[in-house]
Amino acid sequence: MITAAVLALAGCGTKTAPSAASWHASGSGSAPAAEQAGGDPITHPIVGGAGSTGGAKPAAGTSASASASASTSAPASAPASASASASASASTQPPSDGILHTTGSAAVALTFDDGPGPDTPKILEMLRAQGIKATFCLIGVNVQEYPQYVQAIVKDGHTLCNHTWKHDESLGKKSADTIRADLQKTNDEIHKAVPDAQIKYFRHPGGNFTPLAVQIAAELGMKSLGWNVDPSDWNVKKWSGQQMTNHIVSNVRNNTKPGAIVLSHDGGGDRSCTVAAYKTLLPELKSKFTLIAMPV
Ligand SMILES: [Zn+2]
Repeated sequence: MITAAVLALAGCGTKTAPSAASWHASGSGSAPAAEQAGGDPITHPIVGGAGSTGGAKPAAGTSASASASASTSAPASAPASASASASASASTQPPSDGILHTTGSAAVALTFDDGPGPDTPKILEMLRAQGIKATFCLIGVNVQEYPQYVQAIVKDGHTLCNHTWKHDESLGKKSADTIRADLQKTNDEIHKAVPDAQIKYFRHPGGNFTPLAVQIAAELGMKSLGWNVDPSDWNVKKWSGQQMTNHIVSNVRNNTKPGAIVLSHDGGGDRSCTVAAYKTLLPELKSKFTLIAMPV
């Protein structure tokens, strides 16, 4: 694993900073750095709940118990079941805001946003090698540019999620007609690539869900998909190269608990650090959790 990680790190992030916003090279103007600026108001409370700060102790405990379980299974059972029951009680409560923040079971869902893009095939290859299904939140203009990757995502059995036409982080504040047209246009573009594709989820850019956006998505047959683990792999101004990869690995490793929905990015810029991180993370997560695509 160490060897693989080292190999994977080679070159990670070397082109990251300048190309951070490459997903909108096809036309959009605003930075996709996505789940950042606009996402802060909503992202941080969600992440906080998952333990980015307040959850440090449980995360450490989980990590310790997981390590212990590798050699002696007995000590791991108590904290593991406690963690699972805590998650179960939380997940049985319907989301008051209509947004899914957990999978609703002990299973963990990996979600990849802002693609498809040039790194999407690498993510797909790793998932395929591990036999893991995930969920991809697609941007319409990127679907238009890389329809073949949408086809590959569907062919591999992953779940699709509408992430709007061009990542408008303010979409939810616009008129109902504007929101509906954007989401429909995105779904239509996905259907151009894969005519019978099922699109049962919607994720607002930046996590800036509004009641109106949630409602319109529901009218179009899509559940609003939040998250509760966010390694901020989009934040190339804060981390780069091996530091970014290490950050993603440790954040996901420490914060992922039963029921988690993990946010990462296969598009929106050079995601080689995310690719490198998941080479390490996928086998680890697979050994600890049941990993699922969000059900359709
Ligand atoms: Zn996004």
